[in-house]
Amino acid sequence: MRPSVASPVSLDAVIGLGSNLGDRRATLQSAARAVAALGTLLGASPTYESRAVGPPQPDYLNAAVRLRAVIEPPALLELLLGIERDHGRERRERWGPRTLDLDLLWIDALAVRTARLVVPHPCLLERPFALRPLLDVAPDARDPASGERYADRLATLGEAGLRRHSPPLVGA
Ligand code: AMP
Repeated sequence: MRPSVASPVSLDAVIGLGSNLGDRRATLQSAARAVAALGTLLGASPTYESRAVGPPQPDYLNAAVRLRAVIEPPALLELLLGIERDHGRERRERWGPRTLDLDLLWIDALAVRTARLVVPHPCLLERPFALRPLLDVAPDARDPASGERYADRLATLGEAGLRRHSPPLVGA
């Protein structure tokens, strides 16, 4: 695992995108373009529809993009939260519906644990709707601490309930 350093380094990161309000695909496409503008887009997954966790609400559309960027992880998180706000994200109930949710799912060979940011995302191992698109853009991704392959984890969880829509969100 690479130690955290003070000066910005080039990150290879996967960002998860989700929406269950409004024109979900248009929102995800617009957000993916905004994320791509932060560096170099290395890949974009198809979209997947699934039932929402939490109170009754519309189904989610999820996807992931892979980004290379010269930035520190906390600064990347702040930019992602800014993109959420630009897309009308309102924070109401914890598991409630949302126009746009961006999660920093994984960074190659790097683990982060601060009060504001945990990478890999703390729920990643439990969420097929995050693991599936992550693996579309980073098939060999592993947990940086345990070395567990996410492909093995997804095989254990299964993909029931995920409805795949092609084509990819944006051209890579
Ligand atoms: P939520 O809207 O439920 O996804 O929660 C967003 C909050 O989770 C943000 O304000 C972050 O401070 C925090 N957070 C911690 N780790 C992550 C991560 N890996 N990606 C996105 N948000 C994170």
